[in-house]
Amino acid sequence: MKLTEIFEQNKLSLSFEVFPPKSNTSFESVKHATEEIAKLRPSFMSVTYGAGGGTSRYTLDIAKNIKEQYSVPTLAHLTCISSTRETVKEKISQMIECGIENVMALRGDLTPELQASSRDTWTYKHAVDLIHDIKESGAEFCIGGACYPEIHPESANQRDDIRYLKEKVDAGCSFLTTQMFFDNNLLYNFLYKIREADITVPVIPGIMPITNANQVERAIKLSGSFMPQRFKSLVDKFGHSPEAMKQAGIAYATDQIIDLFANGIKNVHVYSMNKPDVAAKIQDNLSEILKPEGFI
Ligand code: FAD
Repeated sequence: MKLTEIFEQNKLSLSFEVFPPKSNTSFESVKHATEEIAKLRPSFMSVTYGAGGGTSRYTLDIAKNIKEQYSVPTLAHLTCISSTRETVKEKISQMIECGIENVMALRGDLTPELQASSRDTWTYKHAVDLIHDIKESGAEFCIGGACYPEIHPESANQRDDIRYLKEKVDAGCSFLTTQMFFDNNLLYNFLYKIREADITVPVIPGIMPITNANQVERAIKLSGSFMPQRFKSLVDKFGHSPEAMKQAGIAYATDQIIDLFANGIKNVHVYSMNKPDVAAKIQDNLSEILKPEGFI
């Protein structure tokens, strides 16, 4: 099923993200965790693509398994920055063979090696180059792209960031998923700006439940996200207790999602990070809201 079919439905939806194992030895445990999340029957599941692409085969194996065993629509991520045209071509063929219908087309983060090399030597410089190649391959994927309510860390300003985002959409993105954010007002402001820039595709907010104090620093470093005082207080107060922090982090994420739904957002994506218990708890917290009659 193409994800656009889900986004076009007039109902609320919740989706979850999983990531592939970093090595062969953890494949079974990751597969088990992703299956537990699939059993929750989210509207779809996305499977990330290991930076550098070294374990990329697992992305497809997991996406295929979720789709075939649990009939949950899947979104397979694909990055291009470390790839050649041949490897991208091969990945597209493998996706078609696996029956993947939805692809998240990403550039990927710049590794220190890439940063030290000349940009002229890179085959792919931006996600838009990958989107063009996917389109040119003739494969009829539903393509998604990433967007950044707080601008991409490499961007000089939001105007340019949104201009390049429009290029990605015009190249063939049917929807966008946001980077994590912890203050919904940032998302609402961003939506105003991109709609003004004539970006009209569905935007799926990505919510990261922070369930342990160590995650906070990593999340900020990775995304550059602004941490509201309300969230900082919660980490200060409960960060020392793993169980209390988990409960508080799930409650904060739930609260963000309820506010998004209340303000007209229909589809929310949860960065569930291979944690079935966290995904299940959030879904359970929203059980009445997600019922068709909870949304009129
Ligand atoms: P781009 O769209 O290429 O943007 C990167 C930067 O280049 C931005 O500053 C943009 O403004 C600028 N830019 C874009 N086009 C142009 C242009 N034509 N000319 C000049 N500048 C331009 N990483 C992984 O390794 N695996 C994953 O599975 C993964 N999943 C992700 C999912 C989501 C929802 C998000 C938000 C991020 C994900 N990432 C993933 C991280 C992502 O790879 C990084 O954020 C990366 O740094 C940028 O990727 P992008 O596709 O947004 O790049």
